[in-house]
Amino acid sequence: MTTATKDIRPPKPLPVPNSDFYEFAETLPAEELAVVRKVRAYMETKVQPIINKYWVEDSFPFELLPSYKELGIAGMGIKGYGCPGGSPLLVGLTAMEIARTDVSFCTFHGVHTGLAMYSIYLNGTEEQKQKWLPPMARMEKVGCFGLTEPLVGSGTGGGLTTTAKRDGDTWVLNGQKRWIGNATWCDLSIIWARDVDDNQVKGFIVENKTTPGFSVEKIENKIALKVVQNGQITLDNCRIPDENRLQGGKGTFADTRLVLRGTRHGSGWEITGAQMGAYENALKYAQERLQFGKPIGSFQLVQELLAKMLGNIVACQCMLARSVQLETEGKLTDAQAAIVKAFCTSKARETVSWGRELLGGNGIVVDYNVARFFADAEAIYSYEGTYQMQTLIVGKAITGFSAFV
Ligand SMILES: Cc1cc2nc3c(=O)[nH]c(=O)nc-3n(C[C@H](O)[C@H](O)[C@H](O)COP(=O)(O)OP(=O)(O)OC[C@H]3O[C@@H](n4cnc5c(N)ncnc54)[C@H](O)[C@@H]3O)c2cc1C
Repeated sequence: MTTATKDIRPPKPLPVPNSDFYEFAETLPAEELAVVRKVRAYMETKVQPIINKYWVEDSFPFELLPSYKELGIAGMGIKGYGCPGGSPLLVGLTAMEIARTDVSFCTFHGVHTGLAMYSIYLNGTEEQKQKWLPPMARMEKVGCFGLTEPLVGSGTGGGLTTTAKRDGDTWVLNGQKRWIGNATWCDLSIIWARDVDDNQVKGFIVENKTTPGFSVEKIENKIALKVVQNGQITLDNCRIPDENRLQGGKGTFADTRLVLRGTRHGSGWEITGAQMGAYENALKYAQERLQFGKPIGSFQLVQELLAKMLGNIVACQCMLARSVQLETEGKLTDAQAAIVKAFCTSKARETVSWGRELLGGNGIVVDYNVARFFADAEAIYSYEGTYQMQTLIVGKAITGFSAFV
C-alpha cells in the first residue's frame, strides 16, 4: 500500500527491512534453514493476504488447514511417531517465523504441537504415544490443552477445582476450563483434573466430539489473538476410559510443569517473532510515508524508535540463542524458561507500542499490519503464566524465598 503523496525519495534502493540483524538464521544447518525459509514463504504468501480479515471477524481461517498440514510442521521437535523431529533451535525459529506474520496462527500451532502433543509425548506411555501422536502429526486430530479454569488461573498449582473420580476402568470428570485455545473446534483436549482420592493433578485425553457431557462455549469479544478460538469447556460427568489417562509421567502437577517449561520458553520465540513483524512493517512505513516533504524515516526521532525496537529484538534473540542451547542440553530450568518469557514479553510491549506510535493514526488500523501485533502482544504477556508469575518463579530461584502467597 502506498502512503506517499509526492515521491521525492532518492533513486538508490532503500535497505530491505530485516529483523534478523545479528544473522541468527545463519546459525542453523542448511536443511533446517530451508525449513525456516519454507515457513516464511508460506506465511507471507498464504497467511498474510487473508489474516487481517479473519482477525477483524474473530474467526479462524479453516481454509488454511490443508496447506498447513502440507507444511509438515505439526509435532515439530518430536522424534518418531510420524512427527517431523527437528532441533529445539528449529522449533523456536519456526515459531518465530510464524509469529512474524501472525501471532494467532502461531498460537494455534503452539497449542496443538507444544501443549497438546507434548503433553502426550512427555507424559504418555509408549502405547499412548503410538496411538495419538501420528494422527495429530497428520492433523487428522487437532488438540488443545485445558488447565486454566474460570476461577483458577495463576493458582492452578494448588487450586485446580476440576475433579476426576475413578470408577472401575473409567474416570468421571467434572468441572470447567476457561481460555482453552482451539477448543471450540478441535478433536481432543488434554484435561488436567484433581484426583479426589489422592488429591494429585492428572492429565486425561478427552475426545471432544464423542464424549457425552463435554461442551464448549466460545469466548467472544476479545481484543487480542482474535483469530484463535478460545473456549470455555464444561465437563459434566464425562466418563473417560483409564487408558486415556496420561500414565507415563508422575501423575502429579509436575507433569503439567514439564510441558509448560517448554511452552513458556516457546512463548519467548513467539513474542520475538511478533516484535520482528511489527518492526519490519513499521520500517517499511517509515521508508514510504512522507511528512514535511520527506520520508518520516529520515527524521532522527523516528530513527530512534526503530533503533530501540531493533535493540529489543536483538536482546530477545540473543537471550533465546543461549536458552535454546540449555534446552538442547536438557538443562533449561523452570526459572531460566520463566525469565525468557518475562523479559521477552515485557520488551515486546515496548516494541509493539513504539511501532504503533511510528505509524501515527494508521497505527491503530489493522490494515497497516502493526496494530494486530500491538493488540496480540497483550495476550502473550498474560498467557502461559502471567508476567508476575514468571517473575515470582525467577524471584524464588534467585532469593530462595517463595513470594507467591
Ligand atoms: C488468549 C489466551 C489464550 C489462552 N490459552 C490457554 C490455553 O490454551 N489453555 C489454558 O489452560 N489456559 C489458557 N489461557 C489462560 C492463561 O494461561 C491465564 O489467563 C493466565 O495463566 C492467567 O490466569 P488468569 O487470567 O485467571 O488471571 P489471574 O490468575 O486471575 O491473575 C490476575 C492478575 O493477578 C496477578 N496475580 C495473581 N496471583 C498473583 C500473585 N501471587 N502475586 C502477584 N500477582 C498475582 C496476575 O499476574 C494477573 O496480573 C489463555 C489465556 C489467554 C488470554
